[in-house]
Amino acid sequence: MDNLRTTYLVVGGGIAGVTCVETLAILHPEASLVIITASSLVKNVSNVSFYAKTIVKFDVNETEANSLKKIHPKLEIVYDSLKHIDTKNKLATTECGTVVQYEVICVCTGGIPKLISDSKKSKRILGIRDTESVQEFQKRLQSGRKMVIVGNGGIASEIVHATHGIQKVWVIRDDYISATFLDPGAAEFFQDTFKNKPTEEENPKKTILRRHVFSEEDTVVALNKDLKSAALGPDWYRKLESIRNESGEQELEIIYKVEIKSVVEVKDKEYPLEVELSNGRTVTCDFVVSATGVEPTVNFKWDKAPKTGPDGGLAVDEYQETSIRDVFAAGDVAHAAWRHSPHWFQLRLWTQARHMAAMAAKAMYARITNEQVLQDFCFELFTHCTTLFGYRVILLGKYNGQGLGNAYEILLRTTPRHEYIKFVLQNGRLQGAILIGETDLEEMCENLILDQIDLTPFGDDILNPDIDIDDYFD
Ligand SMILES: Cc1cc2nc3c(=O)[nH]c(=O)nc-3n(C[C@H](O)[C@H](O)[C@H](O)COP(=O)(O)OP(=O)(O)OC[C@H]3O[C@@H](n4cnc5c(N)ncnc54)[C@H](O)[C@@H]3O)c2cc1C
Repeated sequence: MDNLRTTYLVVGGGIAGVTCVETLAILHPEASLVIITASSLVKNVSNVSFYAKTIVKFDVNETEANSLKKIHPKLEIVYDSLKHIDTKNKLATTECGTVVQYEVICVCTGGIPKLISDSKKSKRILGIRDTESVQEFQKRLQSGRKMVIVGNGGIASEIVHATHGIQKVWVIRDDYISATFLDPGAAEFFQDTFKNKPTEEENPKKTILRRHVFSEEDTVVALNKDLKSAALGPDWYRKLESIRNESGEQELEIIYKVEIKSVVEVKDKEYPLEVELSNGRTVTCDFVVSATGVEPTVNFKWDKAPKTGPDGGLAVDEYQETSIRDVFAAGDVAHAAWRHSPHWFQLRLWTQARHMAAMAAKAMYARITNEQVLQDFCFELFTHCTTLFGYRVILLGKYNGQGLGNAYEILLRTTPRHEYIKFVLQNGRLQGAILIGETDLEEMCENLILDQIDLTPFGDDILNPDIDIDDYFD
């Protein structure tokens, strides 16, 4: 049994754990630092580019944990799983019996996908979380003729987009696709793109501009808390794009407002799985891909457990500290329990894992050096930058009117197969936006949301394609 003593201890080799280590290495290079990682490969971030102050795009890669020593020569790496934290005596024990005495600890153990309830009964029900599960999925794709996809967030959407040559049945709970990130209008924009691309003559770029004032009857699109998330980076689906089962048919059927009731393996039938839906219909297929959300991974024991949020995540304050002093948490395992600024909310995404972990590192350093720390500016505005169905998608602030009740207006500009722009306004001020396509509006929207400029004098011109709105604010 080894015994180690350290100032800083970080647990987990995902984006959060690695960001925490990297930030501590910069802030306090002379201090001792230990990372416990269950896998020898860790995640890191490269090619960081800024669309605006808070809108950042980057690549996520896998790298040998050993390479972290380049940024912090004194870093000790324990290749093991955390088993127990004794918060009173500040001791962390791993499965193999290594005991680490720490001064401050940051738990970054991520999340595990929730699989549909019958998943234990069949190996033909797959969840996507890490490189291994993507490889298993690739194998199934190569030989499969028909799959059922369950879930309506980013992962399910990418699977639908990136797979070819196989019949697909997409089962969703909502009444429109990709509900985590989109509203019904944007879903319609994308659904158009599922059809074959038309020629320029067939598709003159026709821009539609519309203002909609919400009334009591309107359904406010609720934030889907079941966002799929875990250890993969944003480009995982590219691995699927290269696989084409040319012999299979290319077909997509979307079944709305249903859930899966049961999945049964059958013998001597055309397909080995029968999937029963809540509407009474049975769909047959070769395999099911389940992308229905994650649960925070708290897979170790404590002498005294800290407070948790309704999602089971470790509740943290604005400095990422749990209810137990000197125990911090960041990334998918954390529940953001502080009072959020008006245009930020938690969604388990790589950007937020990175922001939370950098914040945790700053607060841990401040604790050790007795300095004051302020919450980082990035928590002022929710931003998410992704690609859906081959289009750039930028989500800002309350992009689906989350938490705004019915008292808001939507201003919409859409050019089929080219762009979809939605502004969410309240009292004439921009609260959120969805920008799909190369709109070039990211920076302006960021400023309008952060500065809460009154846009009433501009009326609908704010999205008039014939007027360069940027000029207004120069
Ligand atoms: C298929 C897929 C696609 C995604 N696509 C996107 C996307 O396009 N954009 C986006 O923003 N987000 C996406 N996400 C979500 C994103 O990957 C997560 O939000 C992010 O990875 C969370 O980082 P993390 O470090 O908190 O957790 P993780 O990346 O889950 O890392 C946790 C680490 O802790 C380790 N660990 C767990 N328990 C222990 C223990 N007891 N001891 C030691 N180590 C332990 C795990 O092995 C793992 O290495 C996607 C997720 C999935 C699954």
